[in-house]
Amino acid sequence: MLAGAALLTTAACGSGTSGATAADGKPAVVAAFYPLQWLTEQVAGSDAHVTGLTAPGVEPHDLELGIQQVTEIKGAALAVYIKGVQPAVDDAVEQDRSFDAATAVKTIPMGEHEEEGGEEAHEHEVSYDPHLWLDPSRLATVATALGERLAAADPAHAQAYKDRAAKTAGELGTLDQEFAKGLGTCRSKTLVTGHEAFGYLADRYGLKQVGITLDPEMEPSPARISEVAKLAKSEGVTTIFTETLVSPKVAEVLANEVGAKTAVLDPLESKPSGDYLSAMRDNLKTLQTALGCTT
Ligand SMILES: [Zn+2]
Repeated sequence: MLAGAALLTTAACGSGTSGATAADGKPAVVAAFYPLQWLTEQVAGSDAHVTGLTAPGVEPHDLELGIQQVTEIKGAALAVYIKGVQPAVDDAVEQDRSFDAATAVKTIPMGEHEEEGGEEAHEHEVSYDPHLWLDPSRLATVATALGERLAAADPAHAQAYKDRAAKTAGELGTLDQEFAKGLGTCRSKTLVTGHEAFGYLADRYGLKQVGITLDPEMEPSPARISEVAKLAKSEGVTTIFTETLVSPKVAEVLANEVGAKTAVLDPLESKPSGDYLSAMRDNLKTLQTALGCTT
């Protein structure tokens, strides 16, 4: 009888407003996909248990959640996500115990070219481009805001969260300076990519992104491919960028038509071989070579 009552009480606590805590008393924090998981781990340190919802190698946009993951989200002290990346996560988060990183930064609008076979357009639930983690300066702003949220969720360790947030923001600020310097003087400023993930990077460093598609799962129409090919030729593009998780087929067809090479740019939608910082530095090197930048 008593044991049963205790179990019920524990269960009730788990779904209460304070969020779940593990046996060691540390809050459980879930992060929707890789860049947010990396950021949350930096800021949480050893004061919270951070788990990622999207397994390595999985394209996050079409993530489906199992019952256990939904329970995990609902019970977490904080769920860190970006509204518009993963509809399943958007639906599962609890308003009062979630942190939408898009609310911390100035967003830019979604790419504007017309999509063929309109169905896909309905899957985008927001009007802004959600790929904000590809601008280190915006991610630094998110780090600071996340530090505040974790401090509020776990007041006993507030200062430690804020200190780690400041350190992480500082590292991202350094990366931002490297990008600004590295992409300052380039022969070309046009970035032809598989799907439009690099809008924030382009926005921050004065580049122009031309994405073949908005959605990585979508097959572009022949009309769209020849439209991009024409543009790439007229702008003297020598490299078409492909992505780590998406088949390079379309980009290769395009590169052939334009007489360009292909190179891999990582949109960091899944865990890279290193971490966020090292993968972004690899991206910077790839960009510098492809765009003919001098420093
Ligand atoms: Zn994406």
